[in-house]
Amino acid sequence: MTQQVRTRFAPSPTGFVHVGSIRTALFQWLFARQTGGVFVLRIEDTDATREVEGAVQAIMDDLRWLNLLWDEGPDIGGKFGPYIQSQRLEKYKAAAEILLAHGAAYKCYCSKERLEALRAQQVQNKLPPGYDRCCRNLTPEQQAEKEKEGITPVVRFKTPLQGQTVVHDIILGDVTFNNNIVEDLVLMKSDGYPTYHLANIVDDHDMEITHVLRGEEWMSSTPCHIMLHNAMGYEVPQFAHLPMLLGSDHAKLGKRHGSTSIRQFREQGYLPEAMINFLALLGWSLDDKTEVISREDLVTHFSLERVSKTAAIFNYEKLQWMNGVYIRGLSIDELTEKVFPFMEKYLPPEIKRPLDIEYVRQIAPLIRERISTLKDAADYTGFFFLNELSYDAAMFTDKKMTAEVALTALKGAEAKLSALENFSTDLLETTLRHLAEELGIKAGQLFNPLRVATTARDAAPPLFETMAVLGKERCLKRIRAALVKLGGN
Ligand code: GLU
Repeated sequence: MTQQVRTRFAPSPTGFVHVGSIRTALFQWLFARQTGGVFVLRIEDTDATREVEGAVQAIMDDLRWLNLLWDEGPDIGGKFGPYIQSQRLEKYKAAAEILLAHGAAYKCYCSKERLEALRAQQVQNKLPPGYDRCCRNLTPEQQAEKEKEGITPVVRFKTPLQGQTVVHDIILGDVTFNNNIVEDLVLMKSDGYPTYHLANIVDDHDMEITHVLRGEEWMSSTPCHIMLHNAMGYEVPQFAHLPMLLGSDHAKLGKRHGSTSIRQFREQGYLPEAMINFLALLGWSLDDKTEVISREDLVTHFSLERVSKTAAIFNYEKLQWMNGVYIRGLSIDELTEKVFPFMEKYLPPEIKRPLDIEYVRQIAPLIRERISTLKDAADYTGFFFLNELSYDAAMFTDKKMTAEVALTALKGAEAKLSALENFSTDLLETTLRHLAEELGIKAGQLFNPLRVATTARDAAPPLFETMAVLGKERCLKRIRAALVKLGGN
């Protein structure tokens, strides 16, 4: 029987989760689901100085929003809990004791000042940075001396200086490191907290993680992790380092490229399903052409073999396009429900709240083809709600259109529409087309001023549908206001 796959997402609670981390979580989740395995959520909060309040909750909220649900984690527990590292400190202390006892780690008494000076010197002499192993071979007497001085040591890994460590990476293949270039990393800090390296390998072992999937930026730590697993007598998990995410300028994806946290995308009205589809294609592909793939198909077809070795470009335009595709796939009821909170939040403040959801439902089909984020809905729909539209009378005229023609057109429309009993799209269309003929003007010469009068826009959702939703009363009121603006009343 082959071992059940166990993957973990191990974020540090330092703020809203970066989309790159979410891409990692997605691949971990997909791999677990694809293989019938287990997806674990573990919070790596051993660096108290970087912790941000509320971040753990935010991580869980965003994962839930994306429907990337975990099988074991801080809130639901599991057989290897607790899943928050600050609640597991005893385990790391015990591991550090074992390493010290086996001579695989040592106490380092170097002061911050010494380390800073060392670093400055290395920079000046253009040497690679790193600890010079000053305390690696202290005699027990020297150690006792330091202890007497009251220095609380850190614990460092005694990296084997000979030989090589090979990372058998599922994606990248074998990557070989000479051990002598691997630093003697700190495992336990002087505050009694473990570093990421120690806590990470202890937990990966304790939680029986079979596959460590993580961003390529962690590759440089991996030889040390493998040596640590070996020193502890643990079985080494399999590693798969995922390609980096870059901006369009091929620099590491960061704030200057645009939004980077998943929460920002959520707040701009990206749909979770679009985010999942888009992120899945950052470093993985089904074939050379398929762009739109459902979550179910991702689970069926995902494989680490098809993860690329080269960095992926985060293309914001493509994401926007893809979000539009998913928006167009929503039913009117779904879209109504989703745009409603965005319209409530972003429509101009003078519009009365709460909005009438039934009215929003009528508007939804008119914007579905036109918006690419839910937030866009607020930009498109203000005129549906405002009591008075503000626009410049110059909008009525252009090269082909004089104010007189606009006035004639709107006067004609006012008369005809007042007499209409029913404001259906079809009836509006036939009535207004007839009217243009009667007035001897081109359809556009009637429709354009009507569009400006009723929506204050020169391009809006389709005119007759829009007027039908606005209703007779609003339309007439707006046409009359336009007549005044044109000096006709
Ligand atoms: N805590 C690390 C992070 O914040 C986890 C890296 C890993 O997966 O080993 O990304």
